[in-house]
Amino acid sequence: MPEFSLDPAHVEWCAALRALAADRLRPLAEKGEPGRVNRPLIAALGELGLLERLFSSGALELCLLRESLAHSCTEAETALALQGLGAHPVASAGTPAQRERWLPEVVAGRAVAAFALSEPDAGSDAAALALDAAPDGVGGWRLTGEKRWISNAPEADFYTVFARTTPGAGARGVTAFLVPADRPGLTGSPLDMLSPHAIGALAFDGVPVGPDDVLGEPDQGFRVAMGTLNLFRPSVGAFAVGMAQAALDAALDHTAGRSAFGGVLADLQSVAHQVAEMATRTEAARLLVYAAASAYDSGAPDVPRRSAMAKLLATETAQYVVDAAVQLHGARALQRGHLLEHLYREVRAPRIYEGATEVQRSIIAKELYRRHAAAARTIGEGARA
Ligand SMILES: Cc1cc2nc3c(=O)[nH]c(=O)nc-3n(C[C@H](O)[C@H](O)[C@H](O)COP(=O)(O)OP(=O)(O)OC[C@H]3O[C@@H](n4cnc5c(N)ncnc54)[C@H](O)[C@@H]3O)c2cc1C
Repeated sequence: MPEFSLDPAHVEWCAALRALAADRLRPLAEKGEPGRVNRPLIAALGELGLLERLFSSGALELCLLRESLAHSCTEAETALALQGLGAHPVASAGTPAQRERWLPEVVAGRAVAAFALSEPDAGSDAAALALDAAPDGVGGWRLTGEKRWISNAPEADFYTVFARTTPGAGARGVTAFLVPADRPGLTGSPLDMLSPHAIGALAFDGVPVGPDDVLGEPDQGFRVAMGTLNLFRPSVGAFAVGMAQAALDAALDHTAGRSAFGGVLADLQSVAHQVAEMATRTEAARLLVYAAASAYDSGAPDVPRRSAMAKLLATETAQYVVDAAVQLHGARALQRGHLLEHLYREVRAPRIYEGATEVQRSIIAKELYRRHAAAARTIGEGARA
């Protein structure tokens, strides 16, 4: 049974994280350059012990961390999440040597990680990935091809790269490699995106990798990728909830003080009802995220359905709430540098990455019909017995 409320220690931790993000991380984020990796911000996340929590926390704590940081500083939230996404495959499937080399650096915020799965012709259909890992004849491989839309590229210090070791084998022919950024033949270029963080393309021109670079087992890399995404999916929802709450707080503040028609905006029933709707939807999304994360932590059997529902509802809700907050603010929200202008750019991408909304719906429907069929079989067997 999922938890419906947080314990007091978690509530206190979230408040402390929100304050930390506003006081210590926001100023560093503001000094960063849009579209570039902000190394001082990542170092601060390390110094504050927050990156370490990526590898010592369960899914619920990861969600609380992401939601709380997102509320006050989306740049810090994203920097933290990307360290987790890029390094989780090393933590979960790396050899002792790989873990010792990279994880202390990631946790300290000295090494920047990236997760390189998507390609120009393989996004939602990730199992179609084509980055070629051809045997080099002496026990290793040469990587040739392209990765695209990779957060932190081309500035990361290492990439967890998913490449095709067995042609035509779909998800079963993919191997995960840990590729340091200075490998010969690896180059990258930045992409100019609506999202404020660094995203780029990577070109592999016969990049050499050996057995020591494999994460997990050859041809088993898709499991490594999905294991990482299963953990991170509800926490994308938490990122969205943090943004929705920030937009809601801004809308409350603005409508309570903005003079209009002899009173304030909040006196207008249509405005007050809009704020009530935003708050109700945000709370519903938050509860679904916490329930999915708790299910993950308790090893519940229905994690894929719950995670998909949480990611779907939270990211769609955040889009709705941020858009409504913009509307309630009027023109000022669209001025460059306004919190809502920033959130409007941030809120769009999570509906696409780590499984687009439509892909989440497909997962939910598949799980529902699978359970329905299993229940029907059980009833049928009961009737025959
Ligand atoms: C800001 C940002 C950061 C990213 N960071 C990373 C990263 O760090 N690492 C990484 O590997 N990738 C990253 N990506 C890439 C991301 O994972 C892909 O964009 C995503 O998987 C979707 O792939 P696509 O863009 O090729 O869209 P497509 O797969 O071409 O899909 C386009 C649209 O088609 C529809 N669609 C697709 N499949 C289905 C389906 N089965 N059923 C119904 N409709 C469907 C959806 O509306 C979808 O949005 C990032 C993307 C963005 C925008």
